[in-house]
Amino acid sequence: MSIRTKYENFRVISPDSVLEGMKIYEEDGKILAVTGEDLPAEKTVDGKGAYLSAGWIDMHTHGAGGADFLDGTPEAFRTAALTHRKYGTTTVIPTTTSVDREGILRTAAAYEAVRNDPDLPSMPGLHLEGPYLASSQKGAQEDRFIRPFDEEETDAILASSDRILRWTAAPELPGAERFARVCRERGVLPCIGHSDADFAECERAFRAGFTHVTHLYSCMSSVHRVNAYRVAGVLEAAYYLDGMTVELIADGCHLPPELLRFAVKFKGRENTALVTDSMRAAGAGDGPSVLGAKDNGLPVVVERGVAWLTDRSAFAGSVATADRLLRTVTGAGISTVDAVYMMTAVPARILGLRDRGTLEPGLRADFTVFGEDFRVKKTVVAGRIAGSCAETAG
Ligand SMILES: [Zn+2]
Repeated sequence: MSIRTKYENFRVISPDSVLEGMKIYEEDGKILAVTGEDLPAEKTVDGKGAYLSAGWIDMHTHGAGGADFLDGTPEAFRTAALTHRKYGTTTVIPTTTSVDREGILRTAAAYEAVRNDPDLPSMPGLHLEGPYLASSQKGAQEDRFIRPFDEEETDAILASSDRILRWTAAPELPGAERFARVCRERGVLPCIGHSDADFAECERAFRAGFTHVTHLYSCMSSVHRVNAYRVAGVLEAAYYLDGMTVELIADGCHLPPELLRFAVKFKGRENTALVTDSMRAAGAGDGPSVLGAKDNGLPVVVERGVAWLTDRSAFAGSVATADRLLRTVTGAGISTVDAVYMMTAVPARILGLRDRGTLEPGLRADFTVFGEDFRVKKTVVAGRIAGSCAETAG
């Protein structure tokens, strides 16, 4: 028999405002109703004035809690996913960095072992970041794994899993249009990232299906000169092309507040998702760490709230969790409602996850409950509650 749960005394964050006096009813893991009316329920959760929003969705993370998804074990997936859940994320999109084929396949196999675990946040699919990238924009991706498009390998990876949701590549490389086509045929979103493409190449890529830009500003071309003539790059195309969506690493280190405001103003909140792009040290403290797989990744160091290459020449990934993204973005002057929208409805739409992202009847009962300053009190994943908040029977 199904149990109906009522959530009351919450400040509910909708796409447009903060609603008081609304009750949310959950049954069988889904939202039954969002209403001011009293309906019968077997169980009540009293929010005592806390905020409740649709569950937060992180569409780009490599790990947390000391584990990287590329470690390639179910245990690493559990550790990283549960750490993110502790900080409010109810949907995690595990992401790989450039690695050999075996590394990708091992990670996809570990994912299969845990993807239906009801104790974990929802993990509806994977994001492959690389290995078909521009060496000149590699950032912390490793040259030894970066390679040109490889049709046979692409097909083998796509055939190995029907759960790849997005794949980041450099569209100026030969074979990009074919890559975009086979991705689209399999429901995979091709994304532009780690790219030196010029504006015209981005327009072609957009028409071919590359409709999302990975970590705007990081590892991409912008206006530069070629033989005295100025050329526009990925950054300008990301702003110019209507329908091109973007994501921001809003950890407070990768982008200053002015650029967060700039991006949200000129792309609009509709086209802007917040991502952690976190590496394994998210939620795990400062000190030496490894980017990528534990056994063959890149040594990095975590200091001042971000991961660095060991020579401190560049960032090597964020250590943010979703709550920090929201604090950073609202601290930059963006409203709570818009910030939450970019952490919920927008990533759901970009990824084609129609069963989540807002608080509407029929959608998954994925909620994040938090206090002032986005301090997370509780998460709910398909109706299953984790965390501490007053619950009463009756
Ligand atoms: Zn990444």
